[in-house]
Amino acid sequence: MATICAAVLYQSRVDAMDRAAEASRNVALLAERDIERTFELYALSLQAAVEGMSDPEVLAASPQLRNMALFDRAATATHLGSMLVLDAEGSILIDAASSVPRKANFADREYFQVHRDHPDVGLYVGRPYASRLRDGSLSIPLSRRISRADGSFAGIVLIAVQLDYFHNLFSALSLGPHGSIALIRRDGTMIMRQPYDEKVIGSDIHNASTFKQFLLAAEGSFSGTSTIDGVQRRYYFKNLSNLPLIIMVAEAHSDIYAAWRHRALTISVVLGILVVAFIALSIALGTQMKRRRLAESELAMLARTDGLTGLNNRRTLDEILDQEWRRARRNGSMLSLLFMDIDRFKSYNDTYGHQAGDEALVAVAKCIANNIRRPGDSAARYGGEEFVVVLPDTTQDGAINIAESIRMKVSDLSIKNRGSEYGHITISVGVVTWTPEWETDIAAFIYAADQALYSAKTTGRNRVAVSTAHFASYALDKQAST
Ligand code: GH3
Ligand code: MG
Ligand code: MG
Repeated sequence: MATICAAVLYQSRVDAMDRAAEASRNVALLAERDIERTFELYALSLQAAVEGMSDPEVLAASPQLRNMALFDRAATATHLGSMLVLDAEGSILIDAASSVPRKANFADREYFQVHRDHPDVGLYVGRPYASRLRDGSLSIPLSRRISRADGSFAGIVLIAVQLDYFHNLFSALSLGPHGSIALIRRDGTMIMRQPYDEKVIGSDIHNASTFKQFLLAAEGSFSGTSTIDGVQRRYYFKNLSNLPLIIMVAEAHSDIYAAWRHRALTISVVLGILVVAFIALSIALGTQMKRRRLAESELAMLARTDGLTGLNNRRTLDEILDQEWRRARRNGSMLSLLFMDIDRFKSYNDTYGHQAGDEALVAVAKCIANNIRRPGDSAARYGGEEFVVVLPDTTQDGAINIAESIRMKVSDLSIKNRGSEYGHITISVGVVTWTPEWETDIAAFIYAADQALYSAKTTGRNRVAVSTAHFASYALDKQAST
């Protein structure tokens, strides 16, 4: 889930950047179209004025008529500051605003000197300056040279475009709270920048790392940090095709990723909660299941064992016996059974109490369990103070050995029993061994063990007796066959 979310969030981050780049490009294109169209109109007006100045008929006309012939309607456009014809000395010769030209000289202006010293400049777009005729209003000059027939310098025609034009144009374009849009001369002079700051207008940014990239291609985009306000932005720039200007549109990374950040945070928090809840649930479930498994295995163990002695109970004994009986028959292997009964136990109980009787039972059971060593062997409490040991794959001699050893070990416990002829607790054991040639069933087999035990009891107790049922059935067989 986390991986999928991360992939989706990463993709939507990339998408946000792509969309921003596309939006910047569209904004730049809009601004470019507007500027180029406006400048084209002004350029045409300049061209018309230059041509008019070389027409003797126009020059001979009255100032009013001459102005009408020289300056078209562009001269009255909103953002056009002034439109002037300057003579070769830089003084105003003709003024579009009035038939009597205002008095001023602009020989010190850069645009004037450029045309005077370089005949081939053509349309010149100058640096921003504070107008002398219009109370310091910021403008940029658009100018053309007027040449005499012999090519010598006769003055210039000038249009002052108020920077308000760009200011208004850029203010109308939305680029997010920290976005920036700028118009820069190709030599690095800032003409207009949004967010607007008068100090930045006319400044030289040709050393800025971002500006250097603007010169590397006709248009392009990249991410960088502004040298003016230190904001990281995604820049889109375009060198205008017919003017020495560069338009730059930049959206701040913080704006581009704002919506994405919000979404990413929400998704991450929700995912985090889900993950924590999932883990907590898993742990709770795991603990619960573990507890349950333990309880189940404990229950299963309790169901299989005898509560007092810890040996197998009667039910388990029946299962084991059944299983081993069938296995022995199937494999043709031997199966031995020990039937044990504590001697004079009633009297022990009567003498020492039931509690002591229980303790003696536990001691005897432990003694039995400790003396069966093979993994297949099993001991069970048959009931009361009677025990059974199942010995698969065990010969009669082997079974007698084990029975004898258990009998001795119980005797060695030396648990005092005044009621016993031996003075302490002893057991009697009946042994029976099944071999494949003995045709019998399990009930008869168990009964044979019981009979052997009975025989041990009747012949003095504290002894091991072997079942003769085996031989008896042989004898019967023989009788039947003869
Ligand atoms: P013997 O076997 O030598 O013939 O004499 P016995 O006195 O042991 O006779 P029997 O096997 O019939 O005695 C069974 C007695 O075992 C009855 C009861 O007093 C005692 N007993 C049986 N089960 C329990 C038990 O769970 N706890 C205690 N304390 N005594 C038990
Ligand atoms: Mg008994
Ligand atoms: Mg007994």
